[in-house]
Amino acid sequence: MWEKQVRQSCLPTRGDNPMVVLVTGAAGFVGTHVSLALKKRGDGVVGIDNFNSYYEISLKRARQEHLAKHGVFVIEADINNALLLKSLFEVVQITHVMHLAAQAGVRYAMENPGSYVHSNIAGLVNLFEICKAANPQPAIVWASSSSVYGLNTKVPFSEMDRTDQPASLYAATKKAGEEIAHTYNHIYGLSITGLRFFTVYGPWGRPDMAYFSFTRDILKGKPINIYQGANNKDLARDFTYIDDIVKGCVASLDTAERSTGSGGKKTGPAQLRIFNLGNTSPVTVPTLVDILEKYLNMKAIRNIVKMPRNGDVPFTHANVSSAQTQLNYKPITDLDTGLKKFVKWYLSYYELVSTRVSFW
Ligand code: NAD
Repeated sequence: MWEKQVRQSCLPTRGDNPMVVLVTGAAGFVGTHVSLALKKRGDGVVGIDNFNSYYEISLKRARQEHLAKHGVFVIEADINNALLLKSLFEVVQITHVMHLAAQAGVRYAMENPGSYVHSNIAGLVNLFEICKAANPQPAIVWASSSSVYGLNTKVPFSEMDRTDQPASLYAATKKAGEEIAHTYNHIYGLSITGLRFFTVYGPWGRPDMAYFSFTRDILKGKPINIYQGANNKDLARDFTYIDDIVKGCVASLDTAERSTGSGGKKTGPAQLRIFNLGNTSPVTVPTLVDILEKYLNMKAIRNIVKMPRNGDVPFTHANVSSAQTQLNYKPITDLDTGLKKFVKWYLSYYELVSTRVSFW
């Protein structure tokens, strides 16, 4: 039924060694941006997303519509659907997988632990199984998370730092994903690159994240909760703008070596990498709110909550020297500039949503 659209979507338009990329979680925040960047430079791209209701489905549909306008087709399916993935790999020769589908969010895990196991563990294993059996096997780049550093207090976080103290089930499933990646690389020769994203924000962002929900509530005149950590210290995050993350993703795909397995068997050592993709300059949550107030031209009603919340870590801070050396990754967008772009998008998207004004 979808074969024709998939073939069309996967047709590269550039001649110099194009990729054909399967993007999982393509209707998600990061997935939409990465799919578009690849398509714009002439690679073949097909997406998959289950359009779950973790946050507003209308936003995922709007992203899907936006992608369709640019020639990217998104199949509505779950990454646990082995039959569908197998037939997809039969219809087109996927050279790379950009795996972004996951159950995100730290607090949602307390009420919905099974959702994390389903998408972040079972889904990952299913995807690796499909890739392992493919001939040739695609190279895989996937999203881990800065949350794997958990309660580590040595800053900035380097890839070699300890990751054995996850502070949430979300973090634990990302950490488990990294171990699973090691196994599939070791046994089956899959080429796998894990990317530890640090709090990504920007246009088409995620409504469950603080910068997004603060914007919504400030505009409505509703109080916002600003949580603190131990000893009443402000939480700080290494907020990273989406365009910088996209560059890191694309560079990871470009530098990914081919898998060395064939039909499920390893024929030689394969590439296994892990990179931090952050901004290298953490900002406190109250400062984030100051910037939002400036661009919204409204004052927030701040409710400072002095009790640390389960799942929160006090700060995140990326050391990106590995990504800089190997991917030429260089974050260039400061929080002020990035939030200005986000607010512009937010105001237009929610006021003019019926006309689907495009800002890209
Ligand atoms: P997102 O929730 O916007 O995107 C994920 C997409 O995956 C969603 O559209 C969802 O519908 C889809 N999905 C979830 N489970 C699925 C399944 N089983 N089958 C098919 N589709 C499924 O999140 P995002 O912010 O775009 O994050 C992308 C990736 O980056 C995720 O793996 C996330 O854990 C990771 N990450 C994000 C951030 C961030 O700050 N945004 C930080 C660290 C890591």
